[in-house]
This record gives sequence, C-alpha cells and structure tokens, in this order.
Amino acid sequence: MSQIHKSFSIDEHYLNSLPFPAFVINQDGQASIWGKNAEQLFGFSATDIKGHTTSFIHENLLRQLSLETFKSILQSEDSTYLDKIQVYTSANEEITTALLAKPFIEQGEHLILIMLMLPELMINSVSNSRTFTDLKHGLDSTFMTVTLDQDGFILECNAEFLKTSQWTPKRVIGKTFWQLFPDNDVSEKITNNIWRNLNNCNTWQGEVEKVTKTGQSYWVLLTAIPTFNLETNEQQFILIEKDITKSKTIQHQLEKIAYIDTETGLMNAHRLEKVIASMIEEDRHFSFVYLSIDKFYTLKELHDQQINQSLIIEFTNRIKMYFQDSAMARINENDFVVITPLSEWFIQGFLSYLQQHPIYSSNIAVPISISGGITRFPEDQTTFSQLMKASIATITSVREAGGDKIVSLSKATHKALNRKALIEKRLLQALDQKNLKVLYQPQVDVYTGKITVVEALVRWEDEVMGVVSPDELIPIAEETGLINNIGSFMLERACEQALIWKKAGLHLKVAINSSVREFRDKNMAKSVLDMLAKTGCPASLIQIEITEKFALEAEAATFITQQMRKLENEGIVFVLDDFGTGYGSFRYMQILPIDTLKIDQTFTNSLLKSEKTQKLMHGMVQLGKSMELKVVAEGVETAEQADLLMTYGCDAIQGYYISKPVTPEEIETLLVK
Ligand code: C2E
Ligand code: CA
Ligand code: CA
Repeated sequence: MSQIHKSFSIDEHYLNSLPFPAFVINQDGQASIWGKNAEQLFGFSATDIKGHTTSFIHENLLRQLSLETFKSILQSEDSTYLDKIQVYTSANEEITTALLAKPFIEQGEHLILIMLMLPELMINSVSNSRTFTDLKHGLDSTFMTVTLDQDGFILECNAEFLKTSQWTPKRVIGKTFWQLFPDNDVSEKITNNIWRNLNNCNTWQGEVEKVTKTGQSYWVLLTAIPTFNLETNEQQFILIEKDITKSKTIQHQLEKIAYIDTETGLMNAHRLEKVIASMIEEDRHFSFVYLSIDKFYTLKELHDQQINQSLIIEFTNRIKMYFQDSAMARINENDFVVITPLSEWFIQGFLSYLQQHPIYSSNIAVPISISGGITRFPEDQTTFSQLMKASIATITSVREAGGDKIVSLSKATHKALNRKALIEKRLLQALDQKNLKVLYQPQVDVYTGKITVVEALVRWEDEVMGVVSPDELIPIAEETGLINNIGSFMLERACEQALIWKKAGLHLKVAINSSVREFRDKNMAKSVLDMLAKTGCPASLIQIEITEKFALEAEAATFITQQMRKLENEGIVFVLDDFGTGYGSFRYMQILPIDTLKIDQTFTNSLLKSEKTQKLMHGMVQLGKSMELKVVAEGVETAEQADLLMTYGCDAIQGYYISKPVTPEEIETLLVK
C-alpha cells in the first residue's frame, strides 16, 4: 500500500495546516476528521457532518462521483486523483476542483485522506517547514513537487520530479523556475503570468508544457502556491505537478488528425491553413479576421477552470451566431480566425454584438475585450503565413493601444511589413555577397589618452533600400535568425582587422556586439574559437559586448554561462553594454565573467542637464569599481561631459567627442594625432 509517510499523524491540526480543504473518511464513507478549511468550503461543521448517516458525504458533497467510483476510492490501496469534479456545499453551490484521495492506516483502521485542490482557496497559505515536509510526504508518490525561493531559484524537489525532468539532484538546485519551461513566446507569457500571480500571493493552476534537462517536452497540470516559511522568514513557492503528457499527446494527435479543436468543435490551425491554401488557389477573395480575447489569463484567474471553458464555448457561439455562414477556426487558446466575404463595418459590429449579448458567469456578465485585425486577400497579403504575420502585427498594436477594437491592417503596418520582408530578402543576399561594411569607433583610455579599443559596428547601404540603420536591421535579424550570420561576418572582419593592426605594431583591441540569440547556439564558443584559429587572431585582441537582457538570460541558462567562461579562459573579455537600462537585478554580475561596464549613452546624454543623472552616473562608476570592473562611458559628445566623467573615475570614454564610427584607415590617422 502506498501509505502516507508515518512520522507524523494525520489529525485535525495537520488538516488545518494544509493549504487545501481536506478531510478524512473511513471505509464506510463517513467523516472521521473534518478540517477547518472543509468546514469553510462546505458550510458543515465537524458536528454536523459526523451526525449524518454514512452515505451523507457521498450523496451530498460528492454526489457527482458515481457510487462505483466512490466505492473504489474507499477500497483502493492506491491514491486516486481526479482532475476535475464538482462538489456541492450546504447551500447547494457547485464548486469545481481537483480531488486527491490518499489511503492510509491509523491504528489498524483503513482511512482515506481527501484533499480538494481548489486554486482559489490555497491563497497565501502560511506554513512552517514541518507542515511543508508533511504536506510533501503526503504528495510525494502522486505528484511532482518543486520548492522555489522568492527569486525563483529551486530549493528542493522530490524524486518524482527528478524522474520526469531527468535532472540530477545536484544539478537542479540553483536552477531557476524559468529554466523548467520551453524557450518560446507562448511559454514566456505563461511563466510570466504564473510568476506574477505568485508574487501577488495568488495561486495559479493550469496545464503547461515543460521541458526536461535535455529539452524534451512534457505536459503537467500545475498548481503553483505561494507560501511563507516561518522558520526562515522567507517567501517561498511550491509547484505541485501532475504529468498529463499522455492525454495531451493523444489530444494533440487527435486534433491533428481530426483537424478539429476538441473544445469548441471549430477547425484548428492545421485545417485552417489547408482551407486558406485552397481558397488562394481558387483565387477567392476574402477577409482574414483574427480575433483575440484580451487579458484572457486575467479572466482565467478570476474564474475557475470550468467557467473558463464555458466562456470559450459561449464565445464560440457568439462568433457562430454573428458570422453565420463564414468559415471559422480556433487557432490558439484565446485566438480565433473568421474567413468572411463580409464588409469591414459588419465585422467591426461584432464588438457591439458582444456587448448586447454578454457572456454570463454566475449571473454576472463577464467583462470581455477583443483585439481584432482584418487582413484582406489578395489586396493586403497573399499567403497563409503572411496573413497570420500581418494579423499578429495588427492585434499587437491594437493591444498596445488598449485593445477592444477590430482594425484593418493599417497603411503604416502594411508598409512596415513590406519593408521588413524586403530587408529579410536583401539581407540574405548582402550576407551572401559580403556586402555589409564595418566601421570602427574608438575608445580612449583616460589615463594614457590613447586609443586602446575600437568597437566594430555594422553598416549596410543597400542598392535598393538605401541605408538601413543597425537599429532597424538588428531587431529584424534577431527575429529571423540572420543575426547569427551577421555575428560571424562581423567576427571574421574584426579578427582580420585586429590582426592587420597587430602586424602593423598597433596595440588595438576590437570589440564586437553580440546578441543572446547567437549564444543560444550551443556551438557558439566553438565557432568563435574556430574563427580565431582560422584567422590567426589572438583571443586577447577580441572583446564581446553583451547587453543586460543578454546577461539576464545567460545567468539563467548554464550552457550560455559555460560558453562565456570557456571564451574567457581563452582570453576573450566580456563587456556589459548599455549598462543601467536593464532590469535592476545585478545578480548576473556575480555569475557571468564580465570585465567591463559600459554605461549607456542615455545617461551621458542628460549628464549636464540633470543633477540626478550626475549622482546616478557617479554611483554606477563606483559600483563598477567596487566590483573591480573597468568602467567605460559611451555617447560622450563634449569636453564637459568627458571632464566630469573623468572626475567620477571612468576608465575610458567613447563617443563623438573622440570620433564617430569610421573606417580602419581613419582609425589609423586618429592614432597618429
Ligand atoms: P551600441 O552597441 O550601443 O552602439 C553605440 C551606438 O551609438 C552606435 O550606433 C554608435 O554609432 C552610436 N554612437 C556612438 N557614439 C555616439 C555619440 O557620441 N552620440 C550619439 N548620439 N550616438 C553615438 P549604431 O552603429 O547605429 O548601432 C546601434 C546599435 O546597433 C548598437 O548600439 C548595437 O546594439 C547594435 N549593433 C551595431 N552593430 C552590431 C553588430 O554587428 N551586431 C549586433 N548584434 N549588434 C550591433
Ligand atoms: Ca555596443
Ligand atoms: Ca551601448
């Protein structure tokens, strides 16, 4: 029998310390211990409940369970977990919850501990470490559990978790919450949402995709609970997880085969793609209407999962009623697409229709807001993936402007999208023909007055598009993955140039900018070292600038840190660029091999205008110094700025005051001056 750990007894005190409503029944189905949380939830006191007949609990509170199921729970020697059932209160109110039944033996009697894992009731449960241990023992063999500290670092986890996630105990400790999830936008949205909830002392529950140590995906039903450890006086979070990969995989496979979204019966994204393809082939004109429910997750927090489900179904009904014969699909949890020949004003009328026909939950109209985008075929876009991309761009801008609007792909977005597509196309060509250029911007060492480092900056002047600035180019390249090609192109040039200068007897180091996306490639360190070997450039001549955003991600991903260390060991120096613009967390400074801080130019910019900035910059220089880092100020345009920064103790200065980014030949003339 999978018994609960017996180093403690399951009594009223134990039940009351659980974050869930819980009670104990005997094999006849009668309550033997009744927790306070259960009392609150059901509205029956311990005396009420014990005074009733043996069948009372089943026939009233748990009446949704068939007699058969209930009996098997009473008899079972193993735990039973029910994902979602309805229980009923004394006022006959229906509540949806997950239920865990755990058998145990107390003084020879077979008893069953029933826990109702009801997200809303687990809010901010206070617990001391003993209760914690007790709770976790109770859950150990059925669930994966992970305890996090207030910053999201893993403090401990149970054997079930290790088994599924393939982590070893030694390696998993000190990893972060975020590292347990896949690296994509959907996941980022969900993890941020979970984290926000936990920090607001809310419990979160839902189905999420996670990844094992080796990056394999698995699905869990996750309950994340904020708790407080009275012994250490610190906030902690527990994640309780149930593996649902099997049913998820089956669901996914079925959906793929059936081309149907099982929850709503609408087409799914796979089917939609096929339908659109054939409409395009037949040259049938249509509007592609993308409707996304705003703040869907907030709604989800307010309401329980069942309401959430009925909300989606009700919303589907509204679309069906309004758009009648149009084709429609659900392509994401909260995203729908309608294919319709109807006019723009009619489509936009859907929002007032929704207001006139609100969706009710417990007799309250659920506030719901929609961000929508209309993209026309063939006028606006001509392929499925373009229609999708354009729609997402449109709804993102609608959402940024506050949401609750359906708008047509604007001329501006239209133009921007076309330009982006053109940049992508031309950039590939430019990289192929090595058509990009590199300019170098010098940095002056304030102690010697000499140029010691130059920063390589990419320049692109395209025959068709004219000058494309790095500020436009780099984000697009990051999005499309071409940043890796730019990165290796720049590195090659930097190495070649550094070597030329070295051979000419000039002591110049070359700094290149690097995007975190390049380091997501597990072979990054190797590629860099290979390039050094190929060009014959010593590692000590190369510096790599990374941004704070990069640093935050690198801090969390060991393989990035490892690659940085490997390069550092070979003699490459890392510079933290745009310092001060980031997220106010400095932990990465302890973890990453950073040698130099480069204070962002926005500070330099307002230095003479604001006393606050002066204090701030002075402070940043001192912070860097206290950590034995070199400090560089960038964007220095005047002698006054340079002088002030020198009095703060800056080691080097970069900016138009010294020189704009220039060609290698011009760098050489600057050296002579
Ligand atoms: P960054 O690394 O912060 O580079 C400094 C930018 O400020 C450069 O713009 C430079 O021309 C400009 N600048 C330098 N001194 C001054 C000054 O005194 N006043 C003013 N107003 N501006 C100054 P640029 O070259 O347009 O580059 C913009 C950004 O694009 C860079 O910011 C960097 O983040 C990115 N970038 C440029 N080249 C590359 C590259 O090869 N790879 C990657 N990943 N990013 C690059
Ligand atoms: Ca830089
Ligand atoms: Ca910078």
